[in-house]
Amino acid sequence: MLVFEKSRPGRGVSALPECDVEVLAVGEKDRRESELHLPEMAEVDLSRHYTELERKSHGVNDGFYPLGSCTMKYNPKINEQAASLEGFTGVHPLQPAETVQGCLKVMKETEDALCEITGMSRFTLQPAAGAHGEFTGLLLIKAYHLANGDTKRKKIIVPDSAHGTNPASAVMAGMEVINVDSTPDGLVDVDKLREVCDGNDEIAGLMLTNPNTAGLFDPNIKEITDIIHSCGGQCYYDGANLNAIMGWARPGDMGFDCVHLNLHKTFSTPHGGGGPGSGPVGCKEHLAKFMPGVRAEEKDGALDFAKAEESLGEMKSFYGNFLVVVRALTYIKMLGREGIPQASKNAVLNANYMMKKLSSKYDIAFNPAVCMHEFVMDIGRQAKETGVTAMDIAKGLLDNHIHPPTMYFPLTVHEALMAEPTETESKETLDQAIEVFLKLNEIAYSDPEQLHNAPVTTPVTRLDEVGAARHPVLKYDFEVSNE
Ligand SMILES: *Cc1c(COP(=O)(O)O)cnc(C)c1O
Repeated sequence: MLVFEKSRPGRGVSALPECDVEVLAVGEKDRRESELHLPEMAEVDLSRHYTELERKSHGVNDGFYPLGSCTMKYNPKINEQAASLEGFTGVHPLQPAETVQGCLKVMKETEDALCEITGMSRFTLQPAAGAHGEFTGLLLIKAYHLANGDTKRKKIIVPDSAHGTNPASAVMAGMEVINVDSTPDGLVDVDKLREVCDGNDEIAGLMLTNPNTAGLFDPNIKEITDIIHSCGGQCYYDGANLNAIMGWARPGDMGFDCVHLNLHKTFSTPHGGGGPGSGPVGCKEHLAKFMPGVRAEEKDGALDFAKAEESLGEMKSFYGNFLVVVRALTYIKMLGREGIPQASKNAVLNANYMMKKLSSKYDIAFNPAVCMHEFVMDIGRQAKETGVTAMDIAKGLLDNHIHPPTMYFPLTVHEALMAEPTETESKETLDQAIEVFLKLNEIAYSDPEQLHNAPVTTPVTRLDEVGAARHPVLKYDFEVSNE
């Protein structure tokens, strides 16, 4: 039931103090023509309403959430504590630098840490999400080519295993996407790449995720970035998930010029439900002068705001989602130099443990000897033999209080379930989840109908997903509802 349907005229929770400033009349043309619809409820009913909504959803605090490529790790509560300190919440973005030295220090230390983790020389904290970071990085690459008088470079190479945001960001940045198919092993086809690049002076660059969305680390990565550089292109690293490599391998050392990170994945700040997120972008020295926004820089023994010489402008107002940055820095400092590689080590171990146990009954796409932070199950065989699809398995998981893995992605695997357990899950949780997966496989063969009808224990049962996508109902119609 919507909050508007629970509303009763005259009920309310407001106890506003008397107005202590001059009341200004709003001109006739600025007045509303119709009544403003606000729910009117008692505080207790409102509180129950939101608690009820919370119970209907599933988050990391409710149970296992192996949503591949999304890194749904646990977000330590101390991050929240740091982000709620008054020195961070009570400041104004236009305050002079000498009054916000602490905030500048957070920006500086975060930038330094991210540079060290990725092998970049500069970071901007402005972008508000991963896709926003991709867009920023591509604008940097574009600015670089234009500054070199290289106006023909408009083509960007994106492998078929890329996250959907990659080609979308490229098109937004005014580039033309060239798709390069993967090898049967799920890696970049180096020969095809060479064919596309050889002597091609229209290549702006390459966008790549490594390890890729199938959880595979490309052993040819140096060769790949060399091919791009030798035709004059730039290499962009999609580092939304650094969970497999942080503390072990650095995009900068792999030959990448530019990278974005999702603080709201790898660096344990909350995500889902629309943000706020943070997608900082790092680059090497030759791109630094185009960086957007301002950064914290040391000047005469204090920190000050500094703008890049040929900055491409503002990607977002002020300093990005600053409190997300505070959370991420807290996480980085809590883990420290030893904890960061340990976290990725455990993430990779957990993924491999699950993959090995599940491979007794489930086909693993590309069948890697070891995976990185995630792996992809291919439900194609079950679908053919029993009619039970990846979708049915996902729905069956819901009845077992497990959030399904990412489904039908990467597109190169038709019945894909992409699982990423993350480092924060215990062996017991993994064992329970493995048991559920194996049980669902059994049900697929003994009683497929049960899975076609799942879920049955959730607030809403099987949805018409096509209908929801094609005819979404996104707003509440007061006229219709009042009839
Ligand atoms: C999540 C993700 C993105 C996009 O990040 P948003 O913050 O959702 O925009 C891009 N690439 C990869 C590989 C991702 O996993």
